Amino acid sequence: MISRYLTDLTSLFFPRTCAGCDTPLVYGEKLICTSCWYHLPFTLLHNGTDNLSTGQCASFFSFLDSSRVQRIIYQLKYRNRPEIGSFLGEKYGILLCEIPPFNEADVIVPVPLHPIKLRKRGYNQSAFFALGLSHSMQKPLAERCLVRHRATPSQTTKNRYQRHENMEAAFRLNEAEAPVGKHVLLVDDVLTTGATLEACSTVLLMGGATQVNAVTIAKAL
Ligand SMILES: [Zn+2]
Repeated sequence: MISRYLTDLTSLFFPRTCAGCDTPLVYGEKLICTSCWYHLPFTLLHNGTDNLSTGQCASFFSFLDSSRVQRIIYQLKYRNRPEIGSFLGEKYGILLCEIPPFNEADVIVPVPLHPIKLRKRGYNQSAFFALGLSHSMQKPLAERCLVRHRATPSQTTKNRYQRHENMEAAFRLNEAEAPVGKHVLLVDDVLTTGATLEACSTVLLMGGATQVNAVTIAKAL
C-alpha cells in the first residue's frame, strides 16, 4: 500500500512518459524512450558545429522539422520539466569531453532569462542544461556570470544591426563572476539567429574572457 503510494508520488513528480512521443516509458528508460533516442536528429560533431562571428558553436540536435525535438524542448520550457535539460546536458557533455575546443573550456556560463520570465517559469532551462554539462564535463558552472537586465522587445521590426544592438543592451556582466583570463563555454537552449549568443559572447569577451564557444541543445538554422 505504502509502496504503491510512493510509486504514484514518484510518477507525479517524474512523469513516466517519454518527453519525445508521450508513450509510457519502460523499466530502465529515463525521460526519453529508446525509440525516440534512436530517431533523434543528432548532429554529427565533426560537421555539426556552426561558426558564429565570436567562436564555434556545437548543437546536440538539429531542429529541422523533428516533432520529437520540438516536443522535448516544449516540455523543457513550458511543462515544468527542467530535469530534461540536465539529462540532455549530462549526455552531451560525455561527447563534448572528447571534442576541442569545447573540452578546453575553463567555465560554463548559461544565457540568463529575464528575472520576470524566470519568476514566471520558475527555472532557467538553459541553466539546467548547463548544470548537466558541468557535471559530466567536470567543469565549474558560473550561473550568475551574465545578467539580463531588460526583456527583449520584439525583434521582427528591426534590421540585423538594430537587432544586434538591441540584444547587446539586454545583457551585462556580473563583475563578481567576471571570467577574466578564462575560456568560456556559453550555453543556451536553442540556436536560432545567433543574435543572443553573439551578444553574450561580446559581453564576456569585453569582460576579460579569452575565448567563447557556445553549446545549445538544438539549432534551428
Ligand atoms: Zn519516445
